[in-house]
Amino acid sequence: MVAQPSNQLLAALSPNYRASLVARMRTVTLAPREILYEPDETPKYAHFITSGVASIVVSMANGGSTEVGLWGPEGLVESFHLLGRARIPNRCIVQMETTALRMPFNEVQKEFRDNAEFRDCVLQGVQSQSAILGQLAGCNRLHEAEARLARWLLMVRDRTESDDFFITQEFLAVMLGARRTTVTAAAGELQRRGFIHYSRGRIHVSDASALEDAACECYPTIRELYGSFYCGAPELDNDRTARPNTA
Ligand SMILES: [Zn+2]
Repeated sequence: MVAQPSNQLLAALSPNYRASLVARMRTVTLAPREILYEPDETPKYAHFITSGVASIVVSMANGGSTEVGLWGPEGLVESFHLLGRARIPNRCIVQMETTALRMPFNEVQKEFRDNAEFRDCVLQGVQSQSAILGQLAGCNRLHEAEARLARWLLMVRDRTESDDFFITQEFLAVMLGARRTTVTAAAGELQRRGFIHYSRGRIHVSDASALEDAACECYPTIRELYGSFYCGAPELDNDRTARPNTA
């Protein structure tokens, strides 16, 4: 029997439809560095993360990589692949031990085509995720490593609902598109100020509100988007004027 999913997209579906969909899924545990999809490839599976985090990463010809998006329990990792025939040039990598409900991608494609409720939720998820991607593009170009590291740690904390997680400095450098020495210096400064404790890949957030003060302005913007991934279909102006206020 499958437990009630903690995935926000699945939770937003009507109970009967959700139960029929989840009954067709398998719970999987994904290891750090596992690839969920490669650039330009159609994914084999669709993943609804229930705990943990996976990063959308862009890799350049010179070997440099940076994170441009993050999927946690807010939605369907392979959402962008459902929208059309465009090749997606990014890779998605699991960052820490993660659990997900998994379904063959072609079956999810069929649901997206045939079920308006499911399609509507996926589209809302893509809209929020696209807005986050845009914010991260600006962040990676304009904000300093320390503020970006603080923003990133808070984003992961929101998605894992935990003050403790494991991540190597090498991987952190990829996430931030920075040199390892830059990340070491930024993490050292946050630690010196008592906001985090970092030891052998284990990060403990000691003072989340101080970390928020150290993070760039992108964090509150992204947190607001994260909190409103699935808030129902947008209300039309006509609806608003035609319907009396029954609240
Ligand atoms: Zn920023």
